[in-house]
Amino acid sequence: MRDLSHFNVTPFGSISHIISHIKKQHNNENAYHIITANPEIVYEAIVNKEYGDIFHSANLVVADGIGVSAPLSWKGYPSERMPGIELFEALMLDKELGKNGVYLVGAKAETVSKAAINLSEDGIKVCGYRDGFFPLDESSISNLVQEIKELTPSIVAVAMGAPRQDIVINLLKSKGVNTIVIGVGGAFDVLSG
Ligand code: UDP
Repeated sequence: MRDLSHFNVTPFGSISHIISHIKKQHNNENAYHIITANPEIVYEAIVNKEYGDIFHSANLVVADGIGVSAPLSWKGYPSERMPGIELFEALMLDKELGKNGVYLVGAKAETVSKAAINLSEDGIKVCGYRDGFFPLDESSISNLVQEIKELTPSIVAVAMGAPRQDIVINLLKSKGVNTIVIGVGGAFDVLSG
């Protein structure tokens, strides 16, 4: 079992701190993988080596809620909660980080299309979207990567539940997607409402 000290959960919680941290770190040459970790994700990273490796290779892990931030603080890693959906919205609204818009991957076809419509109505540039029910094989991932590269979004949001969404993000990363890529769990179900 790995020790909690290996997790790079950030010790800052305010959204503006996180946004400026991402601006300093993201170089547009490589993907910038953000995990918003809930207790189930942390547990999976501890017990599942394959997922643990992906978790550790993420560029930024923030504590999605008190279920992660409180134990971290007790362990000597002061951490504020940062709900994934709030960070996702802040990224899209940031003039620099969200400049070229967002591509949505995940949820059922009707859910992601409604989320795309609602975001567009709120002034967010949605470059494209696709549902999250596809096999994680070479051809599906290559098609997705090609579409993302053609549409050149600044942010790719993957809402397929953990650990699946982070496995997909890791594949996108390995195939040269160079955007901010954030796993957003059930966010499209919320945004489609
Ligand atoms: N989802 C998906 N592909 C899958 C499984 C789930 O796109 O193969 C979507 C699902 O429709 C939902 C989101 O992932 O919109 C989150 O799913 P779930 O609530 O099961 O995950 P959790 O939020 O509990 O991690």
